Amino acid sequence: MPEGDTIHYAARRMRPVLEGHVPDEILTPHPRFGRDRWPERLGSRMVRSVDAHGKHLFIRFEGGLVIHSHLRMTGGWRVRETGRPVPRSAWLVLRRGSHEAVQLRGPVLELMTDSRTRFDQRLAGLGPDILAPELDEVAFLHRLRHDDPARPIGDALLDQRTIAGIGNLWKVEGCFAAGVDPWRPVGRVSDDEALAIVRETRPRMQRSAADGMQDTWRQIYAAAGRPCPRCGPPALIKARRQGDDNRITFWCPSCQH
Ligand SMILES: [Zn+2]
Repeated sequence: MPEGDTIHYAARRMRPVLEGHVPDEILTPHPRFGRDRWPERLGSRMVRSVDAHGKHLFIRFEGGLVIHSHLRMTGGWRVRETGRPVPRSAWLVLRRGSHEAVQLRGPVLELMTDSRTRFDQRLAGLGPDILAPELDEVAFLHRLRHDDPARPIGDALLDQRTIAGIGNLWKVEGCFAAGVDPWRPVGRVSDDEALAIVRETRPRMQRSAADGMQDTWRQIYAAAGRPCPRCGPPALIKARRQGDDNRITFWCPSCQH
């Protein structure tokens, strides 16, 4: 699942290829970019930095131009050796030396100015990044307490304005690790419990962001009907859709309260 750790992992892999260098070649194979002339506009500019905030990735070029990417549920980044055919689903290829970064299946990929990244509503409103070097727990709690207290905590954790980077998988695993029922209304979740969820989640995501092995952290995600790994049978993992986006939540009714 493309969540914050996936994006930080992609940025980490892209940095040695691109940072401090002018790409040798930039390709935008998808027809939607046909008239945008990205290769010409970016062609001779050095990449200043590759960074991530939550699920957003930014490739910042000299002269204040920024490639902004968000993978939603379908996209992907690959960093690989050059020389292989460009995949049919590629929207963007950035080549430098022996490697290339390839963005697959969009769906959010745009060239913007540095100043627009600071004022764009979607980006300026993002909550603290759960993978920031120092997690701003005060800002997280502040934003959580200004949210609807009747909203289930599982749904609130997906709101990128409250905390950026947690997606459906990490919401499920974080609530399970902290023993908190994802259906409990935010107003009945204490600060300590809310912090326990992010403090359980953050180190797991940090490891996944370092090695790209997100799947190894799955305990109950997509495990509906299986025995709970903590309580064992007869406790079974349940699944039900939650929130405006109808994302399936998984939980154990026996050890999550
Ligand atoms: Zn259980």
